[in-house]
Amino acid sequence: MKKTETNIKICTRCILPETFPNITFDSDGICNHCRKEEPVLARAPARKADYRQKLDDLVASTRGKAPSYDAIMAYSGGKDSSYTLKLLRERYDLRILALTFNNHFVSPTAFENIRAVTDALQVDHISFKPPWPLMKSLFGLTAQEDIFSAATLLRASSICTACITFVKSLTLKLAIEMSIPLSAFGWSPGQAPIQSAIMKTNGPLIRQNQKTLSASLPPELRSQVASYLLPPAYYDLYKDRFPTNIHPLAFFDYDEEKIKGELESIGWEAPTNTDTNSTNCLLNAFANQVHLERLKFHPYVWEIANMVRQGVVPREEGIEKIYTPQNSEIVEYGRKKLGLK
Ligand SMILES: [Zn+2]
Repeated sequence: MKKTETNIKICTRCILPETFPNITFDSDGICNHCRKEEPVLARAPARKADYRQKLDDLVASTRGKAPSYDAIMAYSGGKDSSYTLKLLRERYDLRILALTFNNHFVSPTAFENIRAVTDALQVDHISFKPPWPLMKSLFGLTAQEDIFSAATLLRASSICTACITFVKSLTLKLAIEMSIPLSAFGWSPGQAPIQSAIMKTNGPLIRQNQKTLSASLPPELRSQVASYLLPPAYYDLYKDRFPTNIHPLAFFDYDEEKIKGELESIGWEAPTNTDTNSTNCLLNAFANQVHLERLKFHPYVWEIANMVRQGVVPREEGIEKIYTPQNSEIVEYGRKKLGLK
């Protein structure tokens, strides 16, 4: 096992640290997750080709049939969602409504990129912003308490998970209300596994997840958050309108430099004022910092370790992304805006 500058032992193949819950290392210093993934990775090229065919078929049977849009896209303005939007416009010629969830921490560069990309790709765009007092309470709570399950926290910080819950819920709600058959996400190949990359949304499962979330919130926040979740009546009333989720980056070639180059050709610019793992959110560095302090591993390490294992992020670059301290200025920006000590 190799030690990082912070003196934590990490897997010699991916970059998961010894502080990651339940990790084990063999005599070569390779972690149990790397060993478990070996057969999965061997099958990956064939599966990716299957999924590309699956998406081609799905688009062929869907495009142009819905009353307004073919797809709604959860659009942050970051590299991955911008590239997904470009792929869905240029390769599939879908009619897309891009939806940005404004969590009050979207960087000015992200907004500028959103404008440039949606104009260049000729995509309709809307932005949704809940009132600041609600977001402040929700982020303040999740900054101080891990209200989500231990399994969820292996993959993302509490703050990020709370925010993504809003994004997913609003995207789904709008897809149902506007009869949009596809809902697209820009999850990186390390964030979400290929087996969920094309999947009909599962009403009963969503209902269960939303109940679990509500139950973990204090009562006054619970009633405020409820109006952003799926109304219970929808599960029966609109059961035929539940969309199919797609996250194409799980099965298309993923090369960060190539992606950036293609995006720059349509006016997107790489932000410089955010932390190393996010290209759009000014709360991310603070969210990472509190997760690191509380759980002793970086909330992006699972995602980046997956990408290192898949060969889409060089290992040294992964180590730099994860084991470089957070930008303290941006950490303090988040802490101060939330009114926390
Ligand atoms: Zn490993």
